[in-house]
Formats: sequence, structure tokens, C-alpha cells
Amino acid sequence: MTLEHIEKEVGDALKMGEPGGVIDPVRLEKDSTFNFRCYPGISCFNRCCHNVNIILTPYDIVRIKNMLGLTADMFLQLYTTPEILGQTELPIARLKMLEEERGRCPFVSPKGCRIYSDRPVCCRYYPIGIASLRQQDKLKGEEEEFFFVVKEDHCKGFNEPTEWTVDSWRADQEADLYDSMNRGWLELLLRKASFGEGAKMPEKARQLFFMVTTNTERFRQFVFESPFLGSFAVDDNTLKKILKDDVALMQFGFEYLKHVIFGAESDIIRLKKDVLDKTVKKIIKKRRKKKKPKV
Ligand code: SF4
Ligand code: SF4
Repeated sequence: MTLEHIEKEVGDALKMGEPGGVIDPVRLEKDSTFNFRCYPGISCFNRCCHNVNIILTPYDIVRIKNMLGLTADMFLQLYTTPEILGQTELPIARLKMLEEERGRCPFVSPKGCRIYSDRPVCCRYYPIGIASLRQQDKLKGEEEEFFFVVKEDHCKGFNEPTEWTVDSWRADQEADLYDSMNRGWLELLLRKASFGEGAKMPEKARQLFFMVTTNTERFRQFVFESPFLGSFAVDDNTLKKILKDDVALMQFGFEYLKHVIFGAESDIIRLKKDVLDKTVKKIIKKRRKKKKPKV
């Protein structure tokens, strides 16, 4: 793989990250080292928390809205803008910067990040970026992952003597936990992107995707207070968990979307047999009607 190819792929990956970031053109592995320290009192403190391009993952939303004691409806309305994510054409929520305050993040304060313990994954990874490349010479579907540093001129943290490896930085930032929580959502985005730009998704399906991936209260209501459970078989243990636990509900949501939107098999949810039979009959009838020659 050529450096140009890697740079292009990294550039593409960064379009989903922070604008204005400068990639140090050095490929880092998990044990590669770099110097960095960020702390109150550093001359650039809080400068990076302005005009940041932050896509919130479903797990980010659950953590932040629960920390703030808000419903998802309130959180989305106050702090986010809905948007369609590039090639996936799927709806996501972006953290809304305060335009009237020179693009300040709504959570930055003179003392630092007000939601530090639950800050979004994008803020946790900084200054490390992650890129995933599909190797052309390997079997289809095999991915190669590597890391790079995003150096911004205003960031003085790189001049500090504290040394990290990519691994120790990731551990400090709980990156593994966040990665595992976001995996189901990323898989859905990748599945959709792999269909290509021409593959349109009905508006109803997109609305369903947005509700399930951003709004746990509404999704819970949809599961327990609509005919949902008349159509889908879900075991009692799962139902007990998702009734109270937002994270379990979020993960259940990924499985549900995988099943209903992409037709994938799931171990924890499936369309009931009688509903499936009825649906198949309806489709066959519709197709026959379409094929009937007009007289
Ligand atoms: S969420 Fe916190 S760390 Fe991230 S940009 Fe806002 S203030 Fe900064
Ligand atoms: S610019 Fe860099 S060192 Fe300064 S506060 Fe932001 S991350 Fe920390």
C-alpha cells in the first residue's frame, strides 16, 4: 500500500473528525510512543473545545443525557443538530456548537469540560486518530487498523514530557469500552455504506434508525407500548433488561435494526412465524398484482 493511498484514506477518515486537524504523517502502531499532556493551566487550555465537529454515537448520547439528568428528547433538542452522514445517508446527531459564542462547545467551562467523565468518544481519542484500511491484497473484508497523531498548531500538549503508547492512551481514555459499545452502530453504518450511494432507504426506515440510535425513551415506549411485541419474539430475560437499562436497550436496538432493515439473522430477536407468513403472502400478492397485464 502506498503512502499516498494511506494519506487519502486517512484524509477521508478525518472528514468525520475534527476540522483543521493536521495529521502527523507517521503511522503509529499500538506500542508506538508520543508525548502529550493536557491539564488546567496549560497556555492553550480549552482552546480545542471550539468549532469541533463531533458526531455523537448512540453510547455518547446515553452517557451524556443520563449524566445531565435529561430525557433524550430534551438532550437532542438542546444540544444537537440532526444530519445525514455522508456516504451512509443515514441520520445521526451532531453536537451543536454555540455560534453566538465563537463556536464554543456548550459543555466547556473555565474549569474544563463539564461532562468530562462522560465526554464523547471523539474527545477521548484526541490527539490520536484511528484509521481502518481494507487491504487490497488480502481477502475481501479483512481490515487493517492503525493510528496517527492529529497535531494542531494551537495545542501545546505535545511539548509536555509525559510519554504514552497508543495502548496506554487508549486505556486511560476507556477507548476499549467505547469501541465495544459503538461496534453495533458502526456495523450498521458500514453495512449501509457498502450498498453504495444509489441504494435508497425508505424515509420511514431512516426515521426508525434515528429514533432507535438516538432516543432510548422513545424506543422503549415503541417496544413496550406499541404492537411491537405482537410481531417480534424476544426472550423474557432480554425484555427484563431493556425495560430498565439504557445501554442494554441501545444494544438491543442495534440487533433490531440489523434484523428489520438489513434482514440479518439475530439471536435475540426475530419476526414471529405467523407474522412472517402473513408478510410473505402479502408480498407475493402484491407482486402478482403488479405482474397482471392490464385489460
Ligand atoms: S465535550 Fe468536553 S471535551 Fe469535548 S469539545 Fe466539549 S468541552 Fe471539549
Ligand atoms: S489544545 Fe491540546 S493541550 Fe490545550 S487544552 Fe486542548 S487538548 Fe489540551
